[in-house]
Amino acid sequence: MDYERVFSDAIAQLKAEERYRTFANLERDARRFPLALWRPEGEEDRPREVTVWCSNDYLGMGVHPEVIEASVEAARAHGAGAGGTRNISGTHHPIVRLEAELADLHGKQAALAFTSGWISNLAGISTIASLLPNCLILSDALNHNSMIEGVRRAGCEKKVWRHNDVAHLEALLAAEPAARAKLVVFESLYSMDGDIAPIEAILDLCEKYGAMSYIDEVHAVGLYGPRGGGVSEREGLAHRIDVIEGTLAKGFGALGGYIAASAAVVDAVRSYAPQFIFTSTLPPSVAASAAAAVRHLKTSSAERERHQHMAWLTKHALRAAGIPVMDNPSHIVPVFVGDAQKCKAASKLLLERHAIYIQPINYPTVPTGTERLRITPGPAHSEAQVAELVEALVDVWKTVGLRFEEAKIIPLFRRAATAPAADCVYPEMKKAAE
Ligand SMILES: *Cc1c(COP(=O)(O)O)cnc(C)c1O
Repeated sequence: MDYERVFSDAIAQLKAEERYRTFANLERDARRFPLALWRPEGEEDRPREVTVWCSNDYLGMGVHPEVIEASVEAARAHGAGAGGTRNISGTHHPIVRLEAELADLHGKQAALAFTSGWISNLAGISTIASLLPNCLILSDALNHNSMIEGVRRAGCEKKVWRHNDVAHLEALLAAEPAARAKLVVFESLYSMDGDIAPIEAILDLCEKYGAMSYIDEVHAVGLYGPRGGGVSEREGLAHRIDVIEGTLAKGFGALGGYIAASAAVVDAVRSYAPQFIFTSTLPPSVAASAAAAVRHLKTSSAERERHQHMAWLTKHALRAAGIPVMDNPSHIVPVFVGDAQKCKAASKLLLERHAIYIQPINYPTVPTGTERLRITPGPAHSEAQVAELVEALVDVWKTVGLRFEEAKIIPLFRRAATAPAADCVYPEMKKAAE
């Protein structure tokens, strides 16, 4: 067997299908986020400054002074690692405090932290469903890979309902005996299109047909709701959801994932999930920085408000220039390209000619023919940077030969008028940079 050949063929196949991924070598500048140094391949010693427009550190909490300080302080106080699994020596005080913050954030009895959001979905869905006798999982068609893996790992029957189609979900639920255990899994905010689930209607069905509800709020925690509890908090629905899953790595700027639920559900997952039991705990510094971000965003709405303002301003400016922004009611700004090669070319040109970093989104992350650039404006972007982005995209659209739309003026989001000015955000950070 020519083992090497197998792997190089596998790579060649990805390249032939335009699915081969390359990563940009970037170094964030914590004092000047969203600026970063980019080291082009072969010229690593000649870094160039670029503006990042696709980070999932949506609010820049990863560079927030309180968050950095919490991380450094915990590392000095408790060391770099956790010392193993939770069972052995890994249940440290910062992670206990983090879990208390998270339970409080979602108004649940308990929370459990995992090493990533991906792992928390795998562990949460598979453990809950496998403990329920003869469980049927009902899964939204566009659920994230981590949820799909959780469903697979559960080993029980599953049915997929058409994306956000509550009539289809109801038909599937109604076809089952009332007494059968059912777990309905879905996301609040789908991050590639930026659309939001009809959460209330889904919960009505869960209650009507006696199903457990499990929501992934990964792209909403920290960003929505008066305390950053996600879309379910904003809509006053969190108390009706059985399990809320989130990440600490996007809106909260750190690393890790979690579930928040009743004490019994959390204790069962803690006791049965191998993805929790047999792996080392997040380090104290990570737990402390995540907790600092969660705590900060419970009382500060300035980041959320400016985040929404910048997202709506960016959409408005791009549409006015005829750039095809895909419509949605959230902070995600997907720009339609519809061709894998052109999407890559557009991204490359943005980086090389305009010092703007936006990762191309191709199959299998999105369906073939819907390739796009996914832009995530944040509170730290300036209005001047939005103007630069628009100019750069117009140039790239012309150079690559992409289709312009008729300029559209969609009125700015109401809140834009009252959004805080750029220098309201992180005055401490600005001071530190001076
Ligand atoms: C990113 C993502 C996850 C995984 O979270 P990580 O903390 O990055 O592992 C889970 N669900 C959705 C919808 C995601 O986009």
